[in-house]
Amino acid sequence: MKDQLSGAIDARAPQLIALSDDVWRHAELGLLEHKSSAQLAAFLGAAGFSIRMGVANMDTAFVAAWGGGGPVIGLLGEYDALPGISNQPVPHREPVEDNPSGHGCGHNLLGVAAAGAAVALKELMQAQGLPGTVRFFGCPAEESSFGKMWMVCDGAFSDVDVVLTWHPGGVNAVTFTSSLADWVYKFNFYGKTAHAAANPHEGRSALDALELMNEGVERMREHMRPECRIHYVITHGGQSPNVVPDYAQSFYDVRAATVPDLVPMYAWVEQIGQGAAMMTQTRFEPEFIGAAANTLANGVIGDVLQAALESVGPPAFGNEELAFAAQLQGHFPGCAERALRDLEARASHIRDTRVCDVVLPLDATEKPGKGSTDVGDVSWVVPTGQFSAACYAFGIPGHTWAATACSGSSIGHKGMLCAAKVLAFAGARFVTEPGLRAAAREEHQRRLGGHVYKSSIPEGVTRPPMPFGDGKGK
Ligand SMILES: [Zn+2]
Repeated sequence: MKDQLSGAIDARAPQLIALSDDVWRHAELGLLEHKSSAQLAAFLGAAGFSIRMGVANMDTAFVAAWGGGGPVIGLLGEYDALPGISNQPVPHREPVEDNPSGHGCGHNLLGVAAAGAAVALKELMQAQGLPGTVRFFGCPAEESSFGKMWMVCDGAFSDVDVVLTWHPGGVNAVTFTSSLADWVYKFNFYGKTAHAAANPHEGRSALDALELMNEGVERMREHMRPECRIHYVITHGGQSPNVVPDYAQSFYDVRAATVPDLVPMYAWVEQIGQGAAMMTQTRFEPEFIGAAANTLANGVIGDVLQAALESVGPPAFGNEELAFAAQLQGHFPGCAERALRDLEARASHIRDTRVCDVVLPLDATEKPGKGSTDVGDVSWVVPTGQFSAACYAFGIPGHTWAATACSGSSIGHKGMLCAAKVLAFAGARFVTEPGLRAAAREEHQRRLGGHVYKSSIPEGVTRPPMPFGDGKGK
């Protein structure tokens, strides 16, 4: 079984690499991934999958399915980029001239590995006459609107038995940590414009309100729990100092360990916004962009993924890749040491501190994670497992130009092919071993403890607003 799955992925390796490089070059922002989603859908369509585009009111969300009936194995694909971190696949800073966005979270690799695994799994089931459905979820805007959350609310996962996913990272390891619950909002302030020198007394500055809100949040920060995170950028602050800005906008992430922890924290942030509007006689309007729940781990799936990772083995990197990684690390002094510290007891397993060439043992202590992901929402409705494969130089920070460089390099390609095999191996076990599916389901129910998933979408909102406008600041 494993030979057939590996063979199917190896046979397509050049195609998968070319596809990931195309998505990498497009580097499309959330809900604007038209070329990337179309190419992935075309790849799966050509392999015999039926395609449903425009899932959950999002043009770039799709579901590709093959087979019929149960068991239904779900594989998650992402393909959105981040603004302002483009870079050539070289070990130094060199932005891509015609596109400021970049795959600094490796989603070009993420989606393609899952698509490769879906095709390999389909071929195995077809060849062996195994019943079931392989479903690939094309999930847009993971970085902003949290596309999967909208798809969960739309019922896209309602009949899925098991969901498997991965993320490019610095190590080869099962992800058993949770992730932070995250609400993403834009805050709009409306004031009154005026000549800033001739009649400022007639104006009311929206920018003043925005600055006061940010200042208020800074005072709130001291009193948050240590694992909480708040960060923001200013997306509109006026255009000329001699015009009183009648409009200003900030873009916020508010994160806490769980959704119940997040609710009062977010309420406080909104109160600060309302307070800032009162102080400046402006109007405050929050705009929901997306929300991600914290992730629910699953030990049964974790064990299956661990066995699959060990069976596939780590990607094998050559001297050129090691040199590339070392050069990149030079731009982030101390990054490898910090990554080792974060690994705690597992640090002793790392052999090469340039690129991870080992599979780490499973750490099932369920530490809280630092980032957020909409995989969290999926994990509350379907038993879900995740792992990471080494696609970056060890310890370099994600969401940076350096991660973009790795995602377009052979380091990323090798990690991606490893991930595709791991997903396929694990998927095949859930297709052929009903006992494993039942055990994963049972653990899921136990962890849920009767909790019923509820989305964080405010009443009256039916589709995600465009998180980055048209991608060009408009
Ligand atoms: Zn990501």
